[in-house]
Amino acid sequence: MTDLLAAIPAEVRIVEVGPRDGLQNEATILDVENRIALIRGLAAAGLRTIEPGAFVRPDLVPAMAGTEDVLAGLRDLQQVRLPVLVPNRRGLRSAVDAGATEIAVFAAASETFSQRNGGAGMDETMARLDEVVAKAKSQGLAARGYVSCIAGCPYEGEVPLEQVVKVTEALIGIGCTEISLGDTTGTGTPRQIAGIVQACAASAGLENLAIHAHDTMGQALANVLAALELGVRTVDSSVAGLGGCPFAPGAAGNLATEDLVFMLDGMGIRHGVDLDRLVLAGETVTALLGHQGASRAAQGWRKRQLRA
Ligand code: MG
Repeated sequence: MTDLLAAIPAEVRIVEVGPRDGLQNEATILDVENRIALIRGLAAAGLRTIEPGAFVRPDLVPAMAGTEDVLAGLRDLQQVRLPVLVPNRRGLRSAVDAGATEIAVFAAASETFSQRNGGAGMDETMARLDEVVAKAKSQGLAARGYVSCIAGCPYEGEVPLEQVVKVTEALIGIGCTEISLGDTTGTGTPRQIAGIVQACAASAGLENLAIHAHDTMGQALANVLAALELGVRTVDSSVAGLGGCPFAPGAAGNLATEDLVFMLDGMGIRHGVDLDRLVLAGETVTALLGHQGASRAAQGWRKRQLRA
């Protein structure tokens, strides 16, 4: 019998986005000290790439204020990659001053989302990011590129596949070495996600792609599995599923890292993360945020331990 899962990688790299993508979408703002403690907890669980914050305007995104102090408090975490989100040259300057060695930039595959979320259209955004990434590379910083709205746009609805491919190619073209394909609306389903991954891999290279799934419609793990089956080796996730809608505490947003880890463990795929410690990190942060985490695996794991 042919092994349908033959292309699935033996090892997956998890990019933990909770402290940035997660916390910036939470209603409660955590201070610098608690954000450092969260990142340390995640590193202790074995995560080796963690987004620690963003250099964005604190009046617009107060949850990310003090990212330079977060980085300053993590100087000894030499074994952990800490890519910071930067939207522009000013953000890059702050990131460099704070000692960042890796950045992440954002582009959308939808014109309206790009306008509303980033304040500029797709072409203008790419021209700005071209400058940012070129400058970053000249200073020795690596750059990761996010493509949002790959499977749909909250304003436009359907997003043509060609547009996703175009943005992915453009990000590779300006020098990003990894492209994270983000299903922002969480409406993608496995066959669709597989088609997107295949189309983008043709120009970006499969080894340079990451999948960033949202669990809004309960499809996140299924979509990740579809990407893994094609050979994708990098998966974004957020501890406790942080980053659900700020107006609906506990609602599903980012794929929960605990759910991903439980699946990978069961499939015998190496990832280096200890679920016990990860669940603890998730429980600690959700206690501070004042709501239950969105990870089903974390809840199941705790219940099982309490029974035992
Ligand atoms: Mg996300």
